[in-house]
Amino acid sequence: MTTIQHWINGSPPQGDATATQPVFNPATGAEQAQVVLGGTADVDTAVQAATTAFETWSESSLTQRTQVMFAFRQLLVEHEEELGRIISAEHGKTVDDARGEITRGREVVEFACGLGDVLKGSFSDQVSRGVDVHNFRQPLGVVAGITPFNFPAMVPLWMHPIAIATGNTFILKPSERDPSAANFVADLYKKAGLPDGVFNVIHGGKDAVDAILTHPGIEAVSFVGSTPIAKYVHEQATSHGKRVQALGGAKNHAVVLPDADLEFAANHITAGAYGSAGERCMAVSVAVAVGDAADALVEVLERKTREVKVGPGDAPGTEMGPLVTKTAQERVEHAVGVAAAQGATVVVDGRGLKIDGHEDGFFTGPSLLDHVTTEMEAYQEELFGPVLAILRVDTLDEAISVINANPYGNGTALFTASGEAARRFQRNIKVGMIGINVPVPVPMSYYSFGGWKDSLIGDSPIHGPEGIRFYTRPKVVTTRWPQPAQQVAAGFNFPTSS
Ligand code: NAD
Repeated sequence: MTTIQHWINGSPPQGDATATQPVFNPATGAEQAQVVLGGTADVDTAVQAATTAFETWSESSLTQRTQVMFAFRQLLVEHEEELGRIISAEHGKTVDDARGEITRGREVVEFACGLGDVLKGSFSDQVSRGVDVHNFRQPLGVVAGITPFNFPAMVPLWMHPIAIATGNTFILKPSERDPSAANFVADLYKKAGLPDGVFNVIHGGKDAVDAILTHPGIEAVSFVGSTPIAKYVHEQATSHGKRVQALGGAKNHAVVLPDADLEFAANHITAGAYGSAGERCMAVSVAVAVGDAADALVEVLERKTREVKVGPGDAPGTEMGPLVTKTAQERVEHAVGVAAAQGATVVVDGRGLKIDGHEDGFFTGPSLLDHVTTEMEAYQEELFGPVLAILRVDTLDEAISVINANPYGNGTALFTASGEAARRFQRNIKVGMIGINVPVPVPMSYYSFGGWKDSLIGDSPIHGPEGIRFYTRPKVVTTRWPQPAQQVAAGFNFPTSS
């Protein structure tokens, strides 16, 4: 059986790992590999390699760095299908969906290819007689990324292209549930001409994370995952003097007004709820039906939910694959049972689904719950599975109040034909990413991604301009080149311009 190794200083390290963990194929339920579990010593080896690499990489020219990004981008295009299949085999999502996440991640590489423009500083001429001021930004050093299972390519790609293009060296700690994409990407970077030690991968769980959070050689930590771990990472890493960006969990609401095109809204809400088996931080998990929209919306949603094609991620025509682990499958099916016990109407019950030839796979069908209230667990918990809860309210303002009272604030959407309603919604809602007739409003790479409230711990969203800011620190230079004939005496008072 394959053992998935770390990637340090341009290759997998030699020697036997002391601890490993199984990696499953969620469509068959079979163990298909072992992944090594790193600890303090492995993280330290990676930090040493990254520290040495930083000495030369941070001195390389902007042109050299962006040339590597251009080559890396091309390799991502050429190997998209192969990487998509690797992701599908460990995560369970369809190959097409995996290719979609690679494309969205590649857009961050494209942003990094244009770094020469975004990294320009500013210059102020003659701020005082004979004095000019300019600023520029420099890399931090060794930085690390800790990422979740649900986007094994895209979420790390939110981080490392910007970190590396700005001159840092990077250590990725991917999810132990689908670790292979990280090593594949490491090899692509090497083929793109990235020097050894600039991009490293340490596999593992809590031990590896703790070693990263406390290592004095790491300047900054980017984290994406569940809210409790985001809070832990933020607290630990900041108390060890590091910069931290920490993105957490979500409960995303799609509000449907009576004036919306219900067929259009239901189509998009179904895809947003059940795509990737609901294992997306921007998945629609609650549909908020306003007023008269409710009965008609539920009718269309029921029809569309029953039409979702569930199967192995690599089978043609599959729209929704299995969940990532048996535990996740059991957790989601249990939550549907609890919802029914608490009074929700189970309109479509996805529990107990068996796929022919894949009886041991971690499948559950899409579930649709009506008459859910904000007191129920199905509303309060992030289920992270293919369960759509319908909440009924009377007005748009009531919908806004419900969403604002929810502890999460990652994404939300409004389906309407009214510009006035859309404007009121986007101005009053306490959520970071908003879609108007767009169910999963993931910002383009040249904007930044991040929620509000418990969906973002600290103050730094990810990629785009915020990514540049996060991975660099500024310098401001005040310059005077005195002409010999114009010598002025040094003053003892605080300097002012004149
Ligand atoms: P997770 O929090 O369990 O794991 C994320 C990372 O933290 C992994 O690398 C994991 O190894 C590590 N980790 C897990 N437990 C730890 C512990 N006790 N101590 C230290 N490190 C630990 O998240 P997940 O299940 O892999 O991913 C799903 C979660 O991620 C969902 O909550 C989802 O909403 C969230 N997510 C958020 C965004 C966003 O942009 N806000 C994007 C993707 C996923």
